[in-house]
Amino acid sequence: MAALLFRDDAYLKACEVTVLAVHGDAVELDRTIFYPLGGGQAGDTGKIGSWRVIDTRKGPLPDQVLHVLEPGANPTVGAEVEAHIDWERRHRLMRLHTALHLLGAVVKAPVTGGRINDDKAHLDFDIEMEHLVKDAIEAQLNELVRSATATRAQWITDAELDSRPELVRTMSVAPPRGEGRVRLLEIPGIDLQACGGTHVANTGEIGALKVVRIRSEGKRNKRVTLELA
Ligand SMILES: [Zn+2]
Repeated sequence: MAALLFRDDAYLKACEVTVLAVHGDAVELDRTIFYPLGGGQAGDTGKIGSWRVIDTRKGPLPDQVLHVLEPGANPTVGAEVEAHIDWERRHRLMRLHTALHLLGAVVKAPVTGGRINDDKAHLDFDIEMEHLVKDAIEAQLNELVRSATATRAQWITDAELDSRPELVRTMSVAPPRGEGRVRLLEIPGIDLQACGGTHVANTGEIGALKVVRIRSEGKRNKRVTLELA
């Protein structure tokens, strides 16, 4: 079981690691700064020593993180090397991820899905199309960005989360249960919800946002897609 350093500090760009195990084309480390695909957020890329990491996924065990290497990498168990994430890409993911928390606060409707890539992000809402006005949503988002509100994480127990269902906007992007505790992301006065992803420290760091598309993806899925302006 690796130490998941990104949970407590999303700004770590590099760290010393030891290769614990090799599973096919993926390696497991004693500690990691690589966020594995989950909660709608894409997995990190980067380098472990001289090996290129093309994706990061959760393993079958709790807190197991599999760093998927490019073909032919040939890693060795016990190697002690330096790991780096692709920080520019991760920072875009953090900005867009935090932007989705703002979007969830602006659009008052149940969230039915979501996805964060490094170039764009979307949430799906159970809402009628006529309530989604592109220019109004974009203006409110940018107002929240300009409010430069600090974000903060806190931990609660699974039992506390069960007693406060309003903290989970959608099961499709909910953090994993069963570890005894769940992380909350709070943007004071704007949003508070269970979330295991990586966020920027202040909404001002997101920078200007564009609503690039609003489209119906089904009766209960009206998709609002954002990009960094
Ligand atoms: Zn989040």
